[in-house]
Amino acid sequence: MIEYESLALLNEPFHKEYIYSFESILKSGWYILGENVKRFESQFALYNNADFCFGVASGLDAITLSIAAFNFEQGSEIIVPSNTYVATIISVLQNNMKPVLVEPSIETYNIDPAKIEASITKKTKAIVVVHLYGKSCNMDPILELCKKYNLKLIEDCAQSHGAKYKNKNTGTFGEFGAFSFYPTKNLGALGDAGAIVCNDKELAGIIRKLRNYGSDKKYYNDLVGYNSRLDEMQAAFLSVKLKRLDEINNHKRKLAAIYLENLKADFIKPSVDADYFDVYHIFNIRHPKRDELKAYLLKNNIKTEIHYPVSPNNQVALKEMFKNQQFPISEEIHNTTLSLPISFFHTEEDVNRVIETMNNF
Ligand SMILES: *Cc1c(COP(=O)(O)O)cnc(C)c1O
Repeated sequence: MIEYESLALLNEPFHKEYIYSFESILKSGWYILGENVKRFESQFALYNNADFCFGVASGLDAITLSIAAFNFEQGSEIIVPSNTYVATIISVLQNNMKPVLVEPSIETYNIDPAKIEASITKKTKAIVVVHLYGKSCNMDPILELCKKYNLKLIEDCAQSHGAKYKNKNTGTFGEFGAFSFYPTKNLGALGDAGAIVCNDKELAGIIRKLRNYGSDKKYYNDLVGYNSRLDEMQAAFLSVKLKRLDEINNHKRKLAAIYLENLKADFIKPSVDADYFDVYHIFNIRHPKRDELKAYLLKNNIKTEIHYPVSPNNQVALKEMFKNQQFPISEEIHNTTLSLPISFFHTEEDVNRVIETMNNF
């Protein structure tokens, strides 16, 4: 069986260093927001060429706190892509703001900059872009719109650790880059974890407080904050894996190149463009008979996944909110997309077997 993902196999190369980190932190007696968190924060800021990084409890919290830092009026509108994991939209709702969904490009699956302007109103305060599947959004036109309408920019980088646009890291174009280290992500922890990167000193000071009950001095609270702290164990595990993030990304890029070159043209493959350094958190193809293809692959001992089976506007929790709107491009992607095995432990042999089986479909 070729697994779609195996977190045990994925983490095997780091086993010894993880055990060493665990034992030294256990003995240290300091478990939350300590030296290991500080070390990881400075390493991850450096990795992204950002000035500041703050560990938080999850990717969702990273986006939620980023929006909260601006203290927009209740009911303000925030533009988000219609084609995303639901967390991006939930982060807007948790702030009591109105998510305004904008359709993606059918080529890149990311928010279509040409469709954003029509959704900007007097109430629009920010855009949250998502670099889906590990491909950067088309940032130049998005940055222009932010400038023209004075909008804040937050980047959901949960799938784009190390991805670049014109040689610049995702997460460093806007006011905030919000990262998830959920175990399956390219940089994954052994539990929930997240981080926010930014370059603005004042905003950095707000995030430092927001994640810890509004306090950066023990028992003195300046803001009504959250409990969204990173723990020492996860931070240490992340430092171990960060040293090899480029190796992980390059491995995925190598496997992606084999898929791109050898899968037959019946499958719609991800777009490739010299301005974009893609890290393939997910390698997807699209096919009109997606469900049949998935069943056929499983019968041939190949597991795949669907990211995602239900578009956000059709989720039970959200459909009332978006019932008078149409998102045909997002729905088309949700109905036809299939994610192929592309983990750090997969071999070229695995990928060649997937290709051979798929080309006989
Ligand atoms: C994983 C993910 C999140 C949420 O991250 P968590 O750490 O699970 O909270 C947000 N946005 C996108 C695009 C994701 O893939």
